[in-house]
Amino acid sequence: MRLGADFVSDLNPVQQAAVRHGDGPLLVLAGAGSGKTRVLTYRVAYLIRERHVSPRRILAVTFTNKAAGEMKKRVAALVGGDAGQAWIGTFHSMCARILRREARWGWWTSAFSIFDDSDQTDLVKKSMEKAGVAASAFSARAVLGAISRAKDRLLTAEMYAAEGGGYFEECVAKVYAEYEKGLRVNNALDFDDLIKETVQVFRANPPLLEAYAGRFLHVLVDEYQDTSHAQYALVNLLSGRHRNICVVGDDDQSIYGWRGADITNILDFEHDHPDATVLTLDQNYRSTKRILDAAHDVVSRNARRKEKKLWTEREEGSSVALSRVVNEYDEADAIRDAVLARVTREGRNYHDFAVLYRTHAQSRVIEDSLRRGGIPYDIVGGVRFYERAEVKDVLAYLRVIANPADAVSLERILNVPPRKIGDKSAARLAEAAAARGVPLLDALGVADEIEGLPAAAADSARKLAGMFDRLRKKSEAAPVDELLKDLLEETGYSAWLDGQKTEGSAQRLANVEELVSAATEFVDASGEESLGAFLEQVSLVANIDRWEDRANAVSLMTLHNAKGLEFTVVVIPGLEDGLLPHESAFADDDELEEERRLFYVGMTRAQDELCLLCADTRRRSGLTEMRVPSRFLDEIDASHLSVEETRAPTSWERAPSARTPGRRRARRTDVFPDYEDYSQEQQELSPGARVRHPSWGEGEVLEVSGVGEDTIVRVRFGDGTEKRIMVRYGKLTLSGS
Ligand code: ATP
Ligand code: MG
Repeated sequence: MRLGADFVSDLNPVQQAAVRHGDGPLLVLAGAGSGKTRVLTYRVAYLIRERHVSPRRILAVTFTNKAAGEMKKRVAALVGGDAGQAWIGTFHSMCARILRREARWGWWTSAFSIFDDSDQTDLVKKSMEKAGVAASAFSARAVLGAISRAKDRLLTAEMYAAEGGGYFEECVAKVYAEYEKGLRVNNALDFDDLIKETVQVFRANPPLLEAYAGRFLHVLVDEYQDTSHAQYALVNLLSGRHRNICVVGDDDQSIYGWRGADITNILDFEHDHPDATVLTLDQNYRSTKRILDAAHDVVSRNARRKEKKLWTEREEGSSVALSRVVNEYDEADAIRDAVLARVTREGRNYHDFAVLYRTHAQSRVIEDSLRRGGIPYDIVGGVRFYERAEVKDVLAYLRVIANPADAVSLERILNVPPRKIGDKSAARLAEAAAARGVPLLDALGVADEIEGLPAAAADSARKLAGMFDRLRKKSEAAPVDELLKDLLEETGYSAWLDGQKTEGSAQRLANVEELVSAATEFVDASGEESLGAFLEQVSLVANIDRWEDRANAVSLMTLHNAKGLEFTVVVIPGLEDGLLPHESAFADDDELEEERRLFYVGMTRAQDELCLLCADTRRRSGLTEMRVPSRFLDEIDASHLSVEETRAPTSWERAPSARTPGRRRARRTDVFPDYEDYSQEQQELSPGARVRHPSWGEGEVLEVSGVGEDTIVRVRFGDGTEKRIMVRYGKLTLSGS
């Protein structure tokens, strides 16, 4: 739909001023739901329509690929379809694009792989070994985190080493140097490199920078409060020539400090750009008054923030509901009931609801309850599709086809499906490759000549190399989905999964088939057929991007993933000290403030209704813990809350000790009657009961022995295997109830 020339008239006066702002730096610093993203979108459209800026000279950066997709659609609708040339995307996708185009300026080739979390962890482990840092000294995660933070600060391995520090930093410096070598050998970049290398390649090559900075007449950035130092540097480089930089954000919503985001980027914008125009928006268009006030009660407790209070023309709305429940099962059932009641009685749709939790692990019990209640739901992130072992295996094959130097991927599938190349043979092949100074794949091709390699392994290795040759030729001509089907056949991967005949393997095969569908969809939707383009999109898909607005389903995601989104009814479970705020933040005031902002982000996603839940007990690693309501709940003025404390016991528990119904403000100091959770569960764990285990699937209890926490059950699972499981650790749930 092409709108009239006055299309900015559906914005308020300050929003219009932001959209119509002429040249020079512009900061829109404003609270949640005040229309920042809308302003950015309209500004892009305005520049094209009214200022006749060529779309290809506009760069707009969003936080997720999904947000980019929405912005593109919206801009196209506003300008009448002529926005395709504008660069609208995330920092990572934009940088990947630049680095592939400009590969000649760097050490990588345009076929580089993008290493994800698990590739990185593998490489860090190897690098620790090479650097002589014992795996027992530090976890690979901790080391990787430190390397990642260093890259956010644009520090190379040498610069990091020069900074000095304690023993940990010394070790990280050594590992970092090895890790960098590893990336180069594999022709791979990790996520942080995408930004860091782009900054470095621009800094090292002024004419190249000049070409890009000259091209981008306007640079616009959403969610600016969560940019890292490296991203900040990049924005400054790209907007340095024309200085038309427009950033929008909210210091109260900075929630990625733990991942290297630097809140001072937004707080210091005026300092960096003394001539900046600064606009603030204070009208919220999203939430009811009550929700806004409750959210403000919470966030205003933070010391490090710019005070701003939002107002709305919307109605008072209903109170924020706080339900206090017995345990996580009760919590999940309460969520299910709340959804069902509103759908049947109030005519809401499933897609009006979002359940936002602090950690992925909270989702499983909620999912179970929704499933039993027949409620459709979509889970965002969680077990990330592209991180499942079988999906990664198949992608590893594709990556070796695209980038023959990618030894990390090749090693992953050397013996998957099993082809007699065991660990020793794999190590021998890697040694031979290193000794000859050739990629691992080349060593496979000449496996017959490698001493100390068993004949069967050498034979398989040679065949594998031959297969990669054939597939690479195929990849040059055939669309990626066809290539994928051939690959699954030639490698015997599908047949191997199919032959396993277990519940798990059937699921894995389904996932592999899903990947083929993803490739077909990609080819159909983008008109791009190349393997490289497909891999690129797969690598860049962030958690949130797996989420399709399915016709009608409840959305489940972490609070972190909910940024920028809005839902009619928002449910936040787990409001307990230790979860929200997360226990990792207890010791640090800054981190505690970030947790508070996270809660604020969650609350402000709600349009009409906000429901909070906290449980008295929660199970962790098989042990039941007593829980204390979140300290953040105390910060909400009682007049905004309606507290519900009674719930009929579900099948999972015996009636807890008496509790008083009625409305009352929750106090953390309330002490809860303790009760034994295990005994309740064991009542149902009798022979014949159907149970479910996260790895082994459905099964039947054959025998129960032992008492209390030491109860052991013997279970026969779907594939016929029998296991003895200690209930306390076994992660068993009753199914079919
Ligand atoms: P967040 O801080 O959560 O990212 P935001 O400031 O980016 O929020 P938007 O998502 O742009 O806010 O807008 C919030 C909601 O208000 C959207 O549904 C948007 O369409 C609506 N909205 C914004 N401005 C106006 C306006 N002037 N008139 C009507 N609706 C508006
Ligand atoms: Mg926004």
